[in-house]
Amino acid sequence: MAFKAEYIWIDGTEPTPKLRSKTKVLADGAELPTWGFDGSSTNQAEGHASDCVLKPVFSCPDPIRGGDNVLVLCEVYNVDGSIHPTNTRALLTPIAEQYAGQESWFGIEQEYTFFKDGRPYGFPVGGFPGPQGPYYCGIGADEVVGRDIVEAHMDACIEAGLAISGINAEVMPGQWEFQIGPAGPVEVSDHMWMARYLLYRIAEDYGVSATLDAKPAKGDWNGAGAHTNFSTKAMREGYDAIIAACEALGGEGKVEEHIAGYGFGIEQRLTGHHETAPFNVYSYGVSNRGASVRIPWQVEVDKKGYIEDRRPNANADPYVVTRLLVNTCCSVLETKGLV
Ligand code: ADP
Ligand code: MN
Ligand code: MN
Ligand code: MN
Repeated sequence: MAFKAEYIWIDGTEPTPKLRSKTKVLADGAELPTWGFDGSSTNQAEGHASDCVLKPVFSCPDPIRGGDNVLVLCEVYNVDGSIHPTNTRALLTPIAEQYAGQESWFGIEQEYTFFKDGRPYGFPVGGFPGPQGPYYCGIGADEVVGRDIVEAHMDACIEAGLAISGINAEVMPGQWEFQIGPAGPVEVSDHMWMARYLLYRIAEDYGVSATLDAKPAKGDWNGAGAHTNFSTKAMREGYDAIIAACEALGGEGKVEEHIAGYGFGIEQRLTGHHETAPFNVYSYGVSNRGASVRIPWQVEVDKKGYIEDRRPNANADPYVVTRLLVNTCCSVLETKGLV
């Protein structure tokens, strides 16, 4: 007998990369081999030297095909063995390793929007649904659309062994959220990309597309973010480390560095309206959903826990977001002797 391995990788599409995948049939018990693809068809190479290399880095059961079939997330390399410019995972792993002693955890809230027939799922032809208000965590056919897809996706993530921690309907009709974590930086990012793959793949069976567009409907509609909850061992044990991490994120040059890595079109989403802070002004505060970084109220009560960076866009790359957070916060916690 044979089994099917779905090789999945991040492509070079600008401004926001997409996932690509193809299937390899392997003999029972076979190792997952290195593979390749035509980079000239994925914006990752020129036609005259188009081979790119797929190196498996994370695999899990394939909940769609079932049986012994697997999903295989890959890093992309050039044929000379050098890291491909689109391979952001390879930049995260050394930073994660450097600060592994601080035991960083992440919980990422992935918001997304379903589209059908060229408009957000649930938007009437040529018009708009009633204004925002009843849809967030809504129940009932008048308030939410696409729950069958959302449930199928959640079940698939659980079956695949991904660290999914919940789902909810979002503020705009057709918009939903799932959360991955808490898990370390590499693991949460691998699981997030795999969960995104499953979302696209499962919605495909319903004739619906899922998009991570940060501002899928212009006007008075919420954008889509990827709030990133973050803690280190020291932050889970004391408040000085919580405050130090919040201050670190406002440090010299840090606001610009983080915003640049938090996803395409962030200026359109972080306007200061719709539960966001302006992209170019950094702030943090307890319970404040209008701040860049929120300290949850329970964390202030307990004087320990985690912080929520509310800035990353839905279309952000978790390999980049977690690298920036670990680099910025863990280096300051180390310097201040708070580890
Ligand atoms: P919100 O109230 O902002 O909607 P959610 O419940 O959607 O928050 O998401 C919170 C996320 O934070 C979850 O993924 C959860 O696993 C994660 N989380 C909880 N505790 C920690 C922690 N100590 N460090 C990092 N992430 C955490
Ligand atoms: Mn949430
Ligand atoms: Mn949300
Ligand atoms: Mn949140």
